[in-house]
Amino acid sequence: MRFNYKNITYKFLLIVSFLIIIGINKGFNYLLINGFSNPIYGTITSLLIISTIVYLTTLFFGSYLIQLNFHIKSLNKADRTINKIAITFDDGPTPQITENLLNVLEKHNVKATFFMIGKNIENNKNIVKKVDAQGHIIGNHSYYHANMFDMQSSKKMLAEITKTNKLIKSIINKEPTIFRPPFGITNPMLAKAVRKSKMHSIGWSLRSLDTIKTKNQTLKKIKSKVKNGDIILLHDNNNNIIEITEEFINYTKNIGIEIVSLEHLLKIKAYK
Ligand SMILES: [Zn+2]
Repeated sequence: MRFNYKNITYKFLLIVSFLIIIGINKGFNYLLINGFSNPIYGTITSLLIISTIVYLTTLFFGSYLIQLNFHIKSLNKADRTINKIAITFDDGPTPQITENLLNVLEKHNVKATFFMIGKNIENNKNIVKKVDAQGHIIGNHSYYHANMFDMQSSKKMLAEITKTNKLIKSIINKEPTIFRPPFGITNPMLAKAVRKSKMHSIGWSLRSLDTIKTKNQTLKKIKSKVKNGDIILLHDNNNNIIEITEEFINYTKNIGIEIVSLEHLLKIKAYK
């Protein structure tokens, strides 16, 4: 039985139904005599509480950790036997930062993937063009990337995905097939929206935490943790990213790991 939302929910409901049936069967006669002080009710109530806690904890981690493929199968890493990795930059494009980053990538002839937010694209279409012209891949990272993105209906999520895809297509004449859920959070509504969009859900295997850590802390983390087949999550909306990227590229060269595009790493088509 695969560990996913459907199977875990099915199991949880089965356990709850079973406990309630046992409670009704075994406890009914005693209930008439002893009321709710009957020990069987205590046991059943405890088991119901434990099952609910386990279920809710599983839902939390299943939604928070995209790598668990709990709600939807995401592509989070590649074959660990091949000494190749991909670097991905989320939440741009950002004036100056994304452009400076492109210069570093060009200098080292490294191809990267940019998961862009639709509303950030609107006023930076020239940057989007440049990213594409330099051979990098552009993916969809929703239109608003709002904090409450995951609270929306699948219909609204799909509308954001479609709007961003259309926007990207209007600029580079290619429509992305890759979508990275905002914050990497997944849930049944998101799963439905992605399925309907027929896009690949893309996660990561190494999170740099570059937006909350210092430059040195970020570098220390990604240098010490990088492994073959990794998809690394970075962001092109903070100034540190330029130096982090350049130093990390040099590091991977020294240890014999090649940085390739996500398309190459995962052997998928990035555009429809
Ligand atoms: Zn993001």
